[in-house]
Amino acid sequence: MKYYSTNHKVSDVSLEEAVIKGLAPDKGLYMPKQIKPLPKEFFDNIEEMSFQEISYHVADAFFGEDIPAEDLREIVYDTLSFDAPVVKVKKNIYSLELFHGPTLAFKDVGGRFMARLLGYFLKKRGNREVNVLVATSGDTGSAVANGFLGVEGIKVYVLYPKGKVSEIQEKQFTTLGQNITALEVEGCFDDCQALVKAAFMDEELNEKMHLTSANSINIARFLPQAFYYFYAYAQLKRMGITKDIVMCVPSGNFGNVTAGIFGKHMGLPIKRFIAANNANGIFYEYLKTGVYSPRASVCTIANAMDVGAPSNFARIMDLYKEEHSAICNDIGGATYKNDEIAESVKTLWNEEGYLLDPHGACAYRALCEQLKDEETGVFLETAHPAKFKETIEDIIESPVAIPEKLQEFMKGKKETVLISKEFDSLKSLLLSQIE
Ligand SMILES: *Cc1c(COP(=O)(O)O)cnc(C)c1O
Repeated sequence: MKYYSTNHKVSDVSLEEAVIKGLAPDKGLYMPKQIKPLPKEFFDNIEEMSFQEISYHVADAFFGEDIPAEDLREIVYDTLSFDAPVVKVKKNIYSLELFHGPTLAFKDVGGRFMARLLGYFLKKRGNREVNVLVATSGDTGSAVANGFLGVEGIKVYVLYPKGKVSEIQEKQFTTLGQNITALEVEGCFDDCQALVKAAFMDEELNEKMHLTSANSINIARFLPQAFYYFYAYAQLKRMGITKDIVMCVPSGNFGNVTAGIFGKHMGLPIKRFIAANNANGIFYEYLKTGVYSPRASVCTIANAMDVGAPSNFARIMDLYKEEHSAICNDIGGATYKNDEIAESVKTLWNEEGYLLDPHGACAYRALCEQLKDEETGVFLETAHPAKFKETIEDIIESPVAIPEKLQEFMKGKKETVLISKEFDSLKSLLLSQIE
């Protein structure tokens, strides 16, 4: 299958090129030429299939022409070494728990898949080294770093703002060693992202080394996020729920929700989506007004969604041919301030004993407010609440237990390279790494 750029200024590329490049040369995002519907038999039997089997069928629709079945199956099965259960939270509302992976956030799915797919292509090409640059406000860095740990031919540089990620998050990408280097930037998240962009623009750097991005613009990180929407439906079907399903997704860069929308275009019977924002309600305003006005983000307690210019908005616009009314038909919105997020965490904890993280809380709240009686709502619980221990403990006023997987990371020793927010600092460091 060929991939085109949302800016339509460059020619189509192969999957391999789209994955290795990340961003198209005209700065657009790559989109598959086709979104193939899955056959009726697939949906008829979906409840009998495992997470891995379902995901293989979804992956095959996108990648089947480009990767031999055996290899693709191995990549998918190896990526999904954990479950994504749908859990009933209260009447009509279910949580799709996406925090059972190695770094306890949904980004494990895209991060692990991309690492394996990139590794596969590099092996096929014969070991030209690729350098993955990733800017993180917390969760992306850990998922990408752990996904790529030990993958041959790939070096990963995680750029993060010094002092602005939680200790738990920091430990997940600064203690790994091997092919992972953590760059502690004296600046904020926007500075990190600007540094990564500057690196992709720098001619000398790109001549001397092969750089790629592992942010959700990369098709290999983005598309696999469709897998668990299908699996969620399979689980609902097992419970006898097959219609009026609303999926609510805590959204920042909109990669996750857009992957779900791709699922709907492949025939997944989801009635509509809701993209739940924190105070950075840029998409919400777009739905209300038809005007998209990106701006600098504000800091919130759901920090992985502190995004002022959601990168995957370009994919949504492309998919719906920029038709505002068509977008509003399929996607609703919501935006919540910190005190509303906190209130939802606290209330659900007190009433049902289910502990939300600040991101999932936005989505849960949107369902409480917008779900109709005949509908069933599923919100995506995108990270384990213990990843935001201090915030959650302040809200519920009792201790949050740290799962064993997270405790393991806490034992490691932090190792970072400190750089300034000036590009020269990053550039000289990268150049010094060439062997
Ligand atoms: C990254 C992240 C999000 C936002 O996902 P997008 O795909 O960028 O919209 C939501 N919740 C958590 C916990 C995250 O880490």
